[in-house]
Amino acid sequence: MIKVAKFGGSSLANAEQFRKVKDIVNSEESRKFIVASACGKENSKDHKVTDLLYLCEAHVKYGVSYDEILELIKNKYLKIKEELGLKIDLETEFENLKNMLKRSAPVDYIVSRGEYLTSKCLAEYIGAEFIDAAEVIAFDYDGSINLKRSAELLIPKCNTDRKIVIPGFYGSMPNGALKLMSRGGSDITGAVVANIVDAEIYENWTDVSGIMITDPRIVENPMHIKRINYAELREMSYMGANVLNDEAIFPVKVKNIPINIRNTNKPEDPGTMIMEDCSEYDRIDPPHFITGITGNKGYTAITVLKSHSASSVGFLRQALTIVESFGISVESCPISVDMFSIIVKSASVDSCLYELIGRLKKELKADEVTMADGIAMLAVVGRGMKSKIGISGQIFRELGRNGINIRTISQGADELSIIIGVDVLDHENAIRAIYNKFCRGEAK
Ligand code: ASP
Repeated sequence: MIKVAKFGGSSLANAEQFRKVKDIVNSEESRKFIVASACGKENSKDHKVTDLLYLCEAHVKYGVSYDEILELIKNKYLKIKEELGLKIDLETEFENLKNMLKRSAPVDYIVSRGEYLTSKCLAEYIGAEFIDAAEVIAFDYDGSINLKRSAELLIPKCNTDRKIVIPGFYGSMPNGALKLMSRGGSDITGAVVANIVDAEIYENWTDVSGIMITDPRIVENPMHIKRINYAELREMSYMGANVLNDEAIFPVKVKNIPINIRNTNKPEDPGTMIMEDCSEYDRIDPPHFITGITGNKGYTAITVLKSHSASSVGFLRQALTIVESFGISVESCPISVDMFSIIVKSASVDSCLYELIGRLKKELKADEVTMADGIAMLAVVGRGMKSKIGISGQIFRELGRNGINIRTISQGADELSIIIGVDVLDHENAIRAIYNKFCRGEAK
């Protein structure tokens, strides 16, 4: 059995965290492939190495001295080196980095040094082999990762009994230039490596014991989700839950490799399992009706009223074509007789709202077009809701009991999520009300 373990920046923020990582890695022989982020924040006042490197590069661009920032980064690594008794030649590494900065090297190269140096330190500390991501993670010119090529590059290098450490977050273009992934991209590297080596499981080690049912800034100490499927995860992230880098899903999903979110500071916690199909486990341990509750503020509802439109074929298409012509994406579209609403992100209609309303009214010959902003959208997500009678009724009753007015409702026929629009001022209370009703108790 092979496991890929990716450690995020907070898991590698200082020597103490490196020690925890070593214990975790060594506690199971199957943890063969380790993917590392750049050192993260030690505390809330500290800075992530990646952010500092971006800052250095910006200073070069504006011709401002970056010496102090570089010194900050260097000191972080020197401290780790000293406390862990490493031999890595940081003087030479930082001399090289300085020379590259002087030559205005591309930002991708500069910023990638965070993952590179952290991984080098980690590899030495745990006695593992270091494989540079530049040699094994291959991008195509369109910026997508070429899984086949990456496999051809990585597999021949895996012939070792030692564990292997690979830096996350970057790879190489076909011409050899380094390329960064999107922020949080080490998640993607971990998923790519898991795909290539056919891992049994992809562990993603971070500083929380899994995905929380809801936002901890709204509900104090929410429970963690035990199991979630990819479709639910997608709904949760789309509506605002910050879990994994989106692009990390595909490489593991295609091979049906589960992702296990774990806590480096509490390795005994089982964390959250993300998998394609949870049904085998659900039979033994049925899930809560609701897997997660997430939401976002900042939506606008544009409502079009026209008598007899319900029976007029193509009316909705005409309306959506007008919205599309402004390049606006529609978030939700609740419909009733002779009236429908188009819910969009307020920011996306900031500069064209009145023109859009004017065109809808004129071109659709609508009786009335109104708009309401200050709407928050909640997504109540759960595979456990499918075919269960009365769940939405209970949700709405609970919102009513708490004096919360529902502005819009929509649910797809797959019954995976119920999207509810409420006044922005009710956003937090609505989430709390649903959580308290459905999610207190034992984690599922
Ligand atoms: N260090 C990079 C970032 O901060 C990538 C990562 O940590 O996944 O975004």
